[in-house]
Amino acid sequence: MILTVTLNPSIDVSYPLEHLKIDTVNRVKNVRKTAGGKGLNVSRVIHMLDHDLTATGFIGGYFGKWLENQLDRDGIAHDFLPIDAETRSSIAMLHDGGKQTEILESGPTITPEDAQKFLDHFDKLLDQADLLTISGSMPQGLPEDYYTQMIAHAGAKNVKVLLDTSGATLKSALEAPVKPLLIKPNDEELAGLLNREVDKTDYAALKQDLQDPIFDGVDWIVVSLGSAGAFVKHQDKFYHAAIPKIQVVNPVGSGDSTLAGLAMGIHDGKSDEDIMKTAMTTGMLNTMEAETGFVNPAKFDTYFAKVTIENY
Ligand code: ADP
Repeated sequence: MILTVTLNPSIDVSYPLEHLKIDTVNRVKNVRKTAGGKGLNVSRVIHMLDHDLTATGFIGGYFGKWLENQLDRDGIAHDFLPIDAETRSSIAMLHDGGKQTEILESGPTITPEDAQKFLDHFDKLLDQADLLTISGSMPQGLPEDYYTQMIAHAGAKNVKVLLDTSGATLKSALEAPVKPLLIKPNDEELAGLLNREVDKTDYAALKQDLQDPIFDGVDWIVVSLGSAGAFVKHQDKFYHAAIPKIQVVNPVGSGDSTLAGLAMGIHDGKSDEDIMKTAMTTGMLNTMEAETGFVNPAKFDTYFAKVTIENY
């Protein structure tokens, strides 16, 4: 099975408002609450496309219980480490014709004891896993190299890791002796890693960027480019994955859906071309739905056939 990690899950609350009024009352009718955090978006997409998975991370309190009930209702297997603090909520207000204002709780602070307990819990889950995805930022309290430690634990059990994070945690993972199999930076994250500007429209320059020594030992680098698809490095091969023009309803969670596609393709031992086509299709299908981290499996084959892969 695929093990998905969401260390700081969240109840994602969406408030559609015609107009957001400041310093007064806003009443909302159609509230939507979903099990969120990037790794749970990944999990939902993998589940909707009929692959076995277990979701893990830290969970706590009544909000944590609600979140687990939500996963049970959707039939998504999970095995979180319970902690003595409330799981967070994240509020997104969608208002004034396309504006999105978010209020994001930082969530619980993880104690050193729970950090250690989770690594033990994680080791047991790794015994049943063939592939691991790690997504998002880390909760407070954990050291910067916590993902790096997790990647080393996975490496010791021969479990491949797909890592979708940014900033210091990504940097730490790239500097460690045991590397992730795949990273998925966007152009901004790439620029941050390389300490220079990145032109995402210049594929020849991107090809050079991805050959920087900081990426040595990382098999796959997938630079997602929104409506332009993705620029991809696999070992010494480079590709541009191009996608058709589509009607976008809600692009939030497309990167997570892309990671889900990459995980399934690699897990199933597909060819480079089919791995990228699967990932582009799950990304596109997510943009076509109102819900975040959600795809319509009935549309999969149609859009898969429309992705084109070009060697670079
Ligand atoms: P991230 O959320 O990580 O920044 P992107 O916005 O690049 O990721 O989107 C990831 C993938 O989702 C893209 O590679 C593409 O397959 C799909 N996607 C995102 N935005 C669009 C769009 N406007 N039109 C078509 N596909 C899109």
